[in-house]
Amino acid sequence: MKNFYRSICPGVLLLLSTGSGLAADGANNNFNSLLWMQASAEYKANTTQAYNTALRNIDAALRDRKWTAAKEQVGDCSSLPPAIVMDIDETVLDNSRYMGKVVLEGGEWSPVTWNEWVALQSATAVPGAVEFINAMKGKHVRVIFISNRECMKGGNPGTGNNCQEAGTIENLAKVGVAGVLPEDLLLLGERDGWTSEKKSRREYVSKKYRIVMLFGDDFGDFLPDVKSNITPQERDRLVGENKKNWGRKWFMLPNPTYGSWINILRDPKSQYIMKY
Ligand SMILES: [Mg+2]
Repeated sequence: MKNFYRSICPGVLLLLSTGSGLAADGANNNFNSLLWMQASAEYKANTTQAYNTALRNIDAALRDRKWTAAKEQVGDCSSLPPAIVMDIDETVLDNSRYMGKVVLEGGEWSPVTWNEWVALQSATAVPGAVEFINAMKGKHVRVIFISNRECMKGGNPGTGNNCQEAGTIENLAKVGVAGVLPEDLLLLGERDGWTSEKKSRREYVSKKYRIVMLFGDDFGDFLPDVKSNITPQERDRLVGENKKNWGRKWFMLPNPTYGSWINILRDPKSQYIMKY
C-alpha cells in the first residue's frame, strides 16, 4: 500500500502507512520512534543529559566575552548581552501526542490539524528544558526562540490568517516557561526573509546579542544550508568539522520521528540501510 510523506510546518515529516505491511522500500512508520519518545527512559535520559551538560557549561560561556555559538555572529560581540537561541518543537515542547494521534488513527499530517494542536496548547515539556530555561533567568541570559511555528504575513493558504505566536507563548507558560515576550519568539514568516531556513533569524539575533549556545533537534538549528540538496555524507562531514561545538556550544535533542535528516534522503530510502 502507498505510504505518504508529509511535511509539517516546523519542517516535520511523517511517514504514514495507510495499509498493511511495509512500503516497497522497507520503510516503517513512526510507531517505534514514538514508542521511544513516549515510553522509554532512554529518551528522557538523553534530553536531560543535554540540558544538564549545557547548565554545567554556561558559566564558562558567559565569562569568555569572545565566546559565540553562532556562525552568523560576525565582528566584535564582546559588549553584547548574552543570549541562548532555542528551537521549540521537540527541543522545548514535546508534540509526540499530536504525532501519536496521527499514527494511531491512520491519518496524516495537515496544516489544519497541526494548527488545532498548537491552539490546544497541550504540548508537554521536553524533559530538562524548563529547568534549564528558568536557570537562565537567574544568570541574566536572554532566551530567544527561533521556531518554524508560523506567523505568516498575509496568512497561510491552508489555515487562513494564522499566527501561532499567542498559542505558543501560552503553551510555554503552561509547562513552566512563564513570561516569554513576543519579541523573543521569532516565528516563520513573521518578517520578510524569515523562511524555514533559520540562518536569517540567527543573523537578526546576533546583531543584538552574543549567542552563547544553540539548542535544537534538527541540524538546521545550528548550521545553514543543511536541510535540503545535501547528502547524508556531507552532513556527517559537517558534524565532524564542528566536533568541538557539540555538548559545549551546541546541544542536539533527539528526534527520531521527523526532521531534515529524513527529508534529505532520496527514494527508495532502503538504499541508505547498510548490511553486512
Ligand atoms: Mg524542532
